Amino acid sequence: MAIAELFWVRSQQRQFYSDVLTALHDKKKHDLVCRLGLFLDEDSIIRCAHHLQNANVLHGEKFPILMSCKLYFTTLLIRYFHSLVCHQGTSYTLHSLRREYWIPQGRAAVSSVVCQCTQCKRFIAHPFPQPQDSQLPHVRLTERSQPFSHVGVDTFGPLLIEDCKFYVLLITNLICRAINLELLCDMTTDELSFAYNWFALRCRQPQFIVSDNAKQFILLHGILLSSLCSTFEWKLIPEYSAWQGGSYERIVGLTKQSLFRTFQGHLLNGQTLSEMVLRTVLVEILGMLNSRPLTYIGEDHKNIPLSPNDFLHASFLSWRQPEIVSIY
Ligand SMILES: [Zn+2]
Repeated sequence: MAIAELFWVRSQQRQFYSDVLTALHDKKKHDLVCRLGLFLDEDSIIRCAHHLQNANVLHGEKFPILMSCKLYFTTLLIRYFHSLVCHQGTSYTLHSLRREYWIPQGRAAVSSVVCQCTQCKRFIAHPFPQPQDSQLPHVRLTERSQPFSHVGVDTFGPLLIEDCKFYVLLITNLICRAINLELLCDMTTDELSFAYNWFALRCRQPQFIVSDNAKQFILLHGILLSSLCSTFEWKLIPEYSAWQGGSYERIVGLTKQSLFRTFQGHLLNGQTLSEMVLRTVLVEILGMLNSRPLTYIGEDHKNIPLSPNDFLHASFLSWRQPEIVSIY
């Protein structure tokens, strides 16, 4: 045994097993001494001699050193032996440890240390369970509201067209999930304000708007507050909590998916497409997404699924995507 290890073992035993040492020196009766056959070796270390004296095994296994599971030194010992056996489980670690040390209630102590091993946790840890769905906010459940009276807004981009950067303002209805897309030449508040006005003139002035904390939205909120006569509510979701804007982030994902899969990456090099092509494609995507099914499509052909267009155009089946000539 190394001198340092001897020093620490002796020191820890004197600290925790002072009564055992006294009993051994004075040759008095002690329950632990009798039960484990404790004795002091030539280095004044307390060892056990209880059941393997006649076995053909190493000296340390015949006479293991007594160590309490309540000592931090013991925790370090268990970690050391756990690493020696390549992070195997409790039984293998305990078996390795008992070749040199005897720890009363050793299995529980080893199990506790193994369960807290960071390297093992990385491989045996389970993923976090899916959190319980939260309640939908009241604006998502408002009955008898006009289309686009409750909306979520977001922007995405840039899209490279003819060496110019374009962005898209997406406005989605929080109730019937219809969308509106406006192309932006830049991300200034002026451009955003124009795009918002186009939307309000063509569709409706919303009563409720939800968005993230982008500076452009905060400024636009201020402009609308000072210029609009009618009252409306603009809710900014908390910073760094994009999941709270899931209602419009989902639609952003659908739009990007349609856009990028259609162009197959042409938008990223921007050499062959023009602004007019992009505007046309956005309108086509708008019509396609507003005619997507909102309800389950079963095997029964009689049940026609609802789409956002059914709500926008006020009567069922009144709108159908027109046939167009593909330009890309
Ligand atoms: Zn481990």
